[in-house]
Amino acid sequence: MTLLRSLVSLLYGDDPKLRRALQYWGATCTLYVACSLLLLLQAGQGMTDPVAAGRLIAAAGGGALVFYVLIRFSGRLKLAPDQLAVTQALFSLACSMVAYAISGPLRAALLSMTVVVIVFCMFAAKPSQTLLLTAAALAGMGATMYWMQAGDPLRYPPATEALTFGYLAGALLSTAVLSGEMSKLRARLKRQRRELSEALDTIRVLATVDELTSLVNRRRMHEVLADEERRQPSGRGTCIALLDLDFFKQVNDRHGHAAGDAVLRSFSSTARACLRANDVLARWGGEEFLLLLPDAAPEDARAVLERMAQRVHGMQVAGLRDRRISFSAGLAARGAGEPYADAIHRADKALYQAKEAGRDRIVLA
Ligand code: GH3
Ligand code: MG
Ligand code: MG
Repeated sequence: MTLLRSLVSLLYGDDPKLRRALQYWGATCTLYVACSLLLLLQAGQGMTDPVAAGRLIAAAGGGALVFYVLIRFSGRLKLAPDQLAVTQALFSLACSMVAYAISGPLRAALLSMTVVVIVFCMFAAKPSQTLLLTAAALAGMGATMYWMQAGDPLRYPPATEALTFGYLAGALLSTAVLSGEMSKLRARLKRQRRELSEALDTIRVLATVDELTSLVNRRRMHEVLADEERRQPSGRGTCIALLDLDFFKQVNDRHGHAAGDAVLRSFSSTARACLRANDVLARWGGEEFLLLLPDAAPEDARAVLERMAQRVHGMQVAGLRDRRISFSAGLAARGAGEPYADAIHRADKALYQAKEAGRDRIVLA
């Protein structure tokens, strides 16, 4: 199984875009094989020169191998997918011209392959390239037909060749118009996919980040706690703290709601600056915050909160004159196997005690 996987990886590479390009190549090869078999049958029926048919089949096979190498190593050779597709299509068109020239009475049926080549290219080439290929196909086939009827007008009657060319031109031009529509559709799909992915990014941010403070929001914090519970089921060495700004209603009432918002923003950045990278501070609601301190003993957590309190006392907030901001905190060390909901409940009770005892203090549950 692993041997098979390594073989597939060696032949097809690991890049999904390369794999898709090689799948197109594979589809082209299937077409080559089908056409080669038909050509051999024609030769068997005496409709086609077997030597010429053999040479064409060998040339098509050789060309397919060369294109495999070019596509497989296109990254290293710095070949763009659309360039490769156009070159491969030109080669297929050249094969179709030779097949037409050697096919005798069945030659008109072979023209369908010319249309198939252009349709294939719609998916990989730019619309301008597809138009150019259509023009090349018309010019090449036109020249082949002209050359055949000029050289052997009995086997290739000029009127039949001219009418056949007319049908081919009709089919190829319709395909070119379709290709233009298809590329507009592809461009629209690409734009919609980009817009959708941008909208998803915005939704992801809105769903996890608090707009005012840029802290993790309550919804996201629940996920963080659930992850932490799974990561550390024993609950050893983790502390949790509930922080609540003191007399915050007064701030709003005396200095205005905008000043209150400024205090919330300033508190958030000041508090966050006191934390380690893996500590998480969330806006739990209003002027209340939840702090998760993984791998911290209660005395370390208290030291962090005390340092935080000092920085918050020294905060300068515009529009607040010299009002000193403080917070109260209830701190709980998560017990062995204790669910976070219970630890938060204990921290909440401790916060209540801190408020009752006069605020601006930290109480350990
Ligand atoms: P305590 O010391 O007991 O905590 O008193 P407090 O005034 O801080 O608490 P209270 O619960 O009475 O008031 C909290 C206030 O926070 C009330 C609410 O208007 C205000 N608040 C909640 N969210 C926001 C917000 O996003 N911006 C502003 N400016 N104020 C907010
Ligand atoms: Mg408060
Ligand atoms: Mg409150």
